[in-house]
Amino acid sequence: MTEPLVDSYGRVHRDLRISVTDRCNFRCTYCMPEEGMQWLPRSELLTFEEIERITRVCAERFNVDSVRLTGGEPTLRAHLPALVERLAALRTGDGRPVELALTTNGATLRNHAADLVAAGLRRVNVSLDTLRRDRFVELTRRDQLDRVLDGIAAAQEAGLDPVKVNAVVMRGVNDDEVVDLAAFGREQGVTVRFIEWMPLDADQRWDSSAVVSQAEIVAAIDAVHPLDPIQRGHEPAERFAYRDGRGEVGVIPSVTRPFCGSCDRVRLTAEGELRSCLFSVDEVDLRALVRDPEAGDDDVAAAVARCVAGKWAGHMIGQVTFVRPRRSMSQIGG
Ligand code: SAM
Repeated sequence: MTEPLVDSYGRVHRDLRISVTDRCNFRCTYCMPEEGMQWLPRSELLTFEEIERITRVCAERFNVDSVRLTGGEPTLRAHLPALVERLAALRTGDGRPVELALTTNGATLRNHAADLVAAGLRRVNVSLDTLRRDRFVELTRRDQLDRVLDGIAAAQEAGLDPVKVNAVVMRGVNDDEVVDLAAFGREQGVTVRFIEWMPLDADQRWDSSAVVSQAEIVAAIDAVHPLDPIQRGHEPAERFAYRDGRGEVGVIPSVTRPFCGSCDRVRLTAEGELRSCLFSVDEVDLRALVRDPEAGDDDVAAAVARCVAGKWAGHMIGQVTFVRPRRSMSQIGG
């Protein structure tokens, strides 16, 4: 029997974001500290069997049909294609396949893209915030711009479709590259999604004045490559088509125009905590349940439903009642 995974505001949840590791090979300044991250011991990570079981319950019981693997850096998890293969075999309660996507920094995609596609991956988002090598080193604390660019090409060659590029925009850091990044997307045939910087950085340097708004981003691009808005669907990005027909660009305005009212996402951390929002302060421990021999799928489903039922109306960034979550983006799973 399937039922919708619905919260007390009537939002139906169909999208599950799964962090497969908290480790990352980059140290992006807006996300992680330079040093001192405490990694989860292996025994605390969900196994592939446990991830598959939780995803199966969500798909079969609640018709969750969209799954994105993330991290940390998901390609650091050994044998990731084996997990993709397991998840690609799942079906929703009404018999549809689960659509699988990956969010990655792209640095090792050249090595992994073909295996991931063979295992059933269809879509990928690669994070890329600058096209300048010196700035890339400053932002990620790694000298790997060429590898990321090559990873994007490898994803396209392997047949991943769509390949999207995620770019977090920060004032005084990379906001002068918005038009260059948009032009890169047009030339390479990838859709760029600009993301407003959110207060999820481990160093707690986030400041509202450093957020570059959707309005500013769109105005900068529109001045050079005229844009027309596309009707917004369920996804968080507000989309704009290039008037000359060369693709589209999106902005995820999490801070200035939050899309909480249509949010359909739940997130599973690498150690099995289910969160109904990036900014949740409460989590539901699914790992304890899937490791409890007494607990069956009904118990897992009930815990998932309980987590979503308690979802807030919205994250309230910028309001006095806003509370920063204890974890940073890399620990939650972006
Ligand atoms: N390592 C992978 C990657 O680089 O895409 C996946 C994990 S990363 C945490 C997922 C996404 O979150 C990336 O696109 C990253 O730019 C974004 N991100 C991280 N910290 C953020 C923040 N404070 N505000 C907005 N986006 C952030």
